[in-house]
Amino acid sequence: MTLMERHKKAAEILPAVSSLVGGEQYAGASAGTFDHINPATGQAQASIPLSGTDCVDAAVAAARSAAAGWRNTPGSRRREILEKLAELIVRNGEELATISTLENGATMGFGATRFVSMAAEWTRYYAGWADKLDGLVVDTHRDEPLVYTIPEPFGVVGIIITWNAPLLSLAMKIPPALAAGNTVVLKPAEFTPFTSLRFLELAREAGLPDGVLNLVIGGPETGAAISAHPGINKISFTGGPATATKIMQSAASNLVPVLFELGGKGANLVFDDANLAEAIPFSATFALVNTGQGCALPTRLLVQRGIYDTVVEGVTAVVRQYITGDPLEPTTFAGPLVNQAALERVSGIIDKARAENAGRVVLGGGRPGGELANGFFVESTIFADVDPDSSLAQNEVFGPVLSIIPFDTEEQAVEIANSTAYGLTNYVQTSDMRRARRLARDLRSGTIGINGIGNMHVGAPFGGVGISGFGREGGREGVMEFVSTKTVLIG
Ligand code: NAD
Repeated sequence: MTLMERHKKAAEILPAVSSLVGGEQYAGASAGTFDHINPATGQAQASIPLSGTDCVDAAVAAARSAAAGWRNTPGSRRREILEKLAELIVRNGEELATISTLENGATMGFGATRFVSMAAEWTRYYAGWADKLDGLVVDTHRDEPLVYTIPEPFGVVGIIITWNAPLLSLAMKIPPALAAGNTVVLKPAEFTPFTSLRFLELAREAGLPDGVLNLVIGGPETGAAISAHPGINKISFTGGPATATKIMQSAASNLVPVLFELGGKGANLVFDDANLAEAIPFSATFALVNTGQGCALPTRLLVQRGIYDTVVEGVTAVVRQYITGDPLEPTTFAGPLVNQAALERVSGIIDKARAENAGRVVLGGGRPGGELANGFFVESTIFADVDPDSSLAQNEVFGPVLSIIPFDTEEQAVEIANSTAYGLTNYVQTSDMRRARRLARDLRSGTIGINGIGNMHVGAPFGGVGISGFGREGGREGVMEFVSTKTVLIG
């Protein structure tokens, strides 16, 4: 079978998409329709009706009417529903992974399947919080009132997410919001509507009452209508800093609090005392996984001069053996970029970096041919000797491009690492634990991964500083983002 035939056949599982409000399909396409293009084939595979402000109004109204019932549902019941949802995510894992592959090009072998298990883990974890939120009793004097606090939901949460890992984004936001007793209006990116639709269907199957979680399928204008809506009480957003600025401006008009998970330009500092047998494959693989479309990936590889050539050669050799190709094939490491605009943007960044001599291309830099030529594929690309001040080193690429930069001293490495406006994740490879602890302090980011470790643990907060955003997902902080604390004084 050709790639085109394989995808056409696989696309038979894609559900017919529509917005879902109060448990019902929301008919109509007041914001037009959108041809969903399979990123691996470049061919349209579905026509998506886009909802506009009428649907946002209806979804907010449905979420408001469901709010009292849901906040008064016992925590143990909320836990049960979310536990069931986690179970259903696992049970429908293959379908969810395939849908993700078809809608955004995530590879089955190195992305989509992993996102399913992560999503189940996050959902199960936050199920556990639903009946464990508590307040405190203030130790007042016996003549003073009794003072205690109650964790309360905000009310209706607006959740707006991007397309790069939709199932994981849903699981990072929706279970904690629901566990805390909020109801939700969700808007996924128009490029990944299928995953959200299936997530809602599974939530309903798990027992979530109608109206508690509402889905609005639409583009940027629909997102803007959610962020400006006076019926929304909190906004949680994953996407780019430019959009976050707009969302914050409209949220400001209603004084609505926001949580922002934005981009990143993670630095990965490899010191000459690092265990290179681990550091090289980690640095190569993790920078380019999900075809580089990850906010928290170590996309700037900073290498100490003494081991620089060895690491450049080693990392290049690892990436060279990775397959770029059909994301449905389990052995494929890198799939296509999400859409034509991403292809043009990433190709443009590579061309500009070359024209400006921002670095030396040691691998890739072009587009694969053959049956991949119709899809949005870019070769895994490595630039060495990158100028740390260049646009290539300073700005997020969100594509399969790794920049390698040499350094001499620890101080210099910290200065380079901290020189971008982002601050989501940084990484250190060293066998000197004193150095590791120093750098865990000195590097400016929400997370530091030391020695071949990723960037996320469901039990720990994840989020950024600088233009990478604020607010945290994961752990207790992740659920507390959706809790408003009420203080009670009894005389
Ligand atoms: P984007 O900001 O363009 O879009 C994200 C979402 O916002 C989409 O649903 C979009 O329709 C909506 N939107 C667009 N304009 C809007 C507006 N004016 N008001 C309200 N909603 C609006 O993001 P993108 O470029 O598609 O996504 C890539 C970015 O997301 C990258 O910067 C990446 O690093 C970031 N990201 C961050 C994380 C994280 O957890 N920190 C995770 C994944 C992706």
